[in-house]
Amino acid sequence: MNKVPKIAIRDVCKRFGTLTVLDGVSLDVHQSEVVCLIGASGSGKSTLLRCINFLEAYDAGEIRIDGHLMGYVDAAQKQRRPMSDRMLRQARRDIGFVFQQFNLWPHMSVIQNVMEPLLRVRGLSAEVAVKRGEVALDRVGLTDKRNSYPLRLSGGQQQRVAIARALAMEPSLMLFDEPTSSLDPELVGEVLQVMKGLAAEGMTMVVVTHEMGFAAHVADRVAFLDRGRIIDVGPSQQVLHESKEARVQQFLQTYH
Ligand code: ADP
Ligand code: MG
Repeated sequence: MNKVPKIAIRDVCKRFGTLTVLDGVSLDVHQSEVVCLIGASGSGKSTLLRCINFLEAYDAGEIRIDGHLMGYVDAAQKQRRPMSDRMLRQARRDIGFVFQQFNLWPHMSVIQNVMEPLLRVRGLSAEVAVKRGEVALDRVGLTDKRNSYPLRLSGGQQQRVAIARALAMEPSLMLFDEPTSSLDPELVGEVLQVMKGLAAEGMTMVVVTHEMGFAAHVADRVAFLDRGRIIDVGPSQQVLHESKEARVQQFLQTYH
């Protein structure tokens, strides 16, 4: 077994002005593990995901991906130093990010949306990009929507296109930030089903979600964030049903 965690987060602190948003967060995510991040709005879930992908700089602590430092803080100078541009590009290519808003390009067809990063970021030929794009669309069950435009699709289908677009880059790690929160309830299931399939294939995933059913049945572990701290983390059953933390119990009551 590979002992080096896929993601190792150590004592990460992040402030926006005087507001402390992440207050010493540590978390390991292992290869092929699915970890759900839950917690109240404003607890720092999105910020933590954005720090992992280096979309957000942090003020203290370390994040490693596959053992490689993604950035660190020079305590003497109180400065965050990014890793090299080359490493940053490599890491970004390796990490798929799916947002609440699908962010598809409306003027491009489904297959063009999926191909675009392959052409622009990976520099692949159109021929190769089409093939990879088709494989990715097949994985999310949207082969038949290949030539449709995003606005002709349901929200659930659009989010599956966004997932296909991320998958086409062949990431080794996927981050999801409330991927079903903007969907009508009847469309949530198809997106969760695709994510469940990815988990079954062994994709390493960190998922911010309010879907407690998904957290209970798909996640290996659940981490509960409260005001910038992970106050409980463990096997999903344990956190969702047996937490000793009053705040966790209180939060989960609203879902019952
Ligand atoms: P969550 O995803 O758990 O709802 P966020 O990580 O989005 O929480 O936000 C945590 C806190 O940080 C909130 O109080 C939010 O208002 C604040 N915040 C997030 N991004 C910024 C920003 N760019 N500038 C200032 N405050 C921010
Ligand atoms: Mg958020």
